Amino acid sequence: MQMTIAKPVAFEGVGLHTGAPVRMVLHPAPSDHGIVFRRTDITDRNPRIAAIWDRVTPSKLCTLIENEDGVSVSTIEHIMAALVGAGVHNTLIEIDGPEVPILDGSSAEFVAGIQAAGLRALSGALRAIRVLKPVEVREGEAVARLEPAASLVIDFSIDFADAAIGKQEKRLNMANGAFVRELMDSRTFCRQADVDFMRANGLALGGTYENAVVVDGDKVLSPGGLRHADEPVRHKMLDALGDLALAGAPILGRYVGARAGHAMTNRLLRALFADPEAWEWETCSPAQAYSLPGAGVCRAAGLAAR
Ligand SMILES: [Zn+2]
Repeated sequence: MQMTIAKPVAFEGVGLHTGAPVRMVLHPAPSDHGIVFRRTDITDRNPRIAAIWDRVTPSKLCTLIENEDGVSVSTIEHIMAALVGAGVHNTLIEIDGPEVPILDGSSAEFVAGIQAAGLRALSGALRAIRVLKPVEVREGEAVARLEPAASLVIDFSIDFADAAIGKQEKRLNMANGAFVRELMDSRTFCRQADVDFMRANGLALGGTYENAVVVDGDKVLSPGGLRHADEPVRHKMLDALGDLALAGAPILGRYVGARAGHAMTNRLLRALFADPEAWEWETCSPAQAYSLPGAGVCRAAGLAAR
């Protein structure tokens, strides 16, 4: 069955890049609504933006979606990951500005809010996207690939010159709440030199040493250090889950990312959907539904505990 949240849940904070205060409220939504943002500050144009792959405008720093009227919302990847990771398929997200609040730089606060609200089962059957053959995009040394697998597996590797990050790799079957146990609290990260560059260009105005892991060579500048020794690769996996959520339905397949980022994962989805032989719709059986990333993470209102 498709799921939505049982009641509205609000988040307040600042945008990572704009630095502007923002309030965002997730509302319950019916079957087949999907994840849709609605800009409450926009009154002269269509304020609704569907969180779907062909609405993404390429951006190196974050994932930005835009509707046909040019109304956009940016830095959606961490809330998208939280929704998938907590098992929410349908919600209307009202937001009073152009950028999702960064909160602590991870998905943890979003997941906690969704868990507190609980989930509600809807009548619509849940469909998933089964990957039928490998699809790959490359850019220099960066690779993003989808290949057939029984359920969603994310396999990511990074290689940074800064010794504080260096080479990291991690592979995780996303079934049975793995996102909540292993990935959701890993924060976005960057180098001090990137911070200086972004600030000089009017970006990262809401960034702090708390809501981003900032490194310089072999030093972690953020007070308290890392939440996990491999927090950066965990965050890249979180981002990948959020960006894959823009497929519009759960993916049954293995994602492999090497030095990949938001724009490449979106190019990968475009390549997948451009090839009708590469994927098919599959109605989830109850057993399959229980192997999806968000299964069993939240209590469900009106459902007997299993
Ligand atoms: Zn991120």
